[in-house]
Amino acid sequence: MIAADLYLKRIDFLQYLPRTDCKECGEVSCAAFVKHMKNGTRTPDNCPSLKGNQVRAFYLAMKADQFLPQVPALELPRPAPEGLTEINQANERSLLIVSGNSEFTQEVLTSIMACTLSPFWLLCVDCRGDTVDMAMIYQSLKAEKIAAHLEDSQLNHEKAKREMILPGFASSLQEPLARQTGWKVRVGPICIAELPLFLGDDWEVPPDLDFG
Ligand code: SF4
Repeated sequence: MIAADLYLKRIDFLQYLPRTDCKECGEVSCAAFVKHMKNGTRTPDNCPSLKGNQVRAFYLAMKADQFLPQVPALELPRPAPEGLTEINQANERSLLIVSGNSEFTQEVLTSIMACTLSPFWLLCVDCRGDTVDMAMIYQSLKAEKIAAHLEDSQLNHEKAKREMILPGFASSLQEPLARQTGWKVRVGPICIAELPLFLGDDWEVPPDLDFG
């Protein structure tokens, strides 16, 4: 099977470091620290500025290729169920994560969401089963569709945080979606494994997670 590029190698770890180049880790700069973290000669806990959950989010992103399912690069769309799912007893203060209804996307999402204790709402929108990158090319994922799914969901009728995270590939939908829904719309990372770093304290990585 030819596996799709899940963009793990493109995670910009540097943006999640203090970027003070303080050298306390033994490296000349934060950029050098990232390089050595990637080749295994440094670990996230070698930077004293990173605290518990941040350290775990770094480990999670770096080890993600070991637990994320492989996605075939050449596959026809595979539609999975659409709709709203509650994760970890989501409530009115919980963020909404938006994605498409590709079976592959949902498998990857399920794997990463098993690595948090934080509550979220997950809205899978009908995009004919395309992965999100393909859905943007084929225009099967649109702001109108997301807004309509939201309108039909219980979130629109209950007290909610009214803040959503879009997949990085869907960044062009940010402005129209904010206008159509009145929600705060943030663009998340392209690589799903970067989500714990991107969300920071909003993504609590279990302290006992085994990173192998
Ligand atoms: S200790 Fe942390 S903040 Fe200081 S240079 Fe190393 S990576 Fe950067």
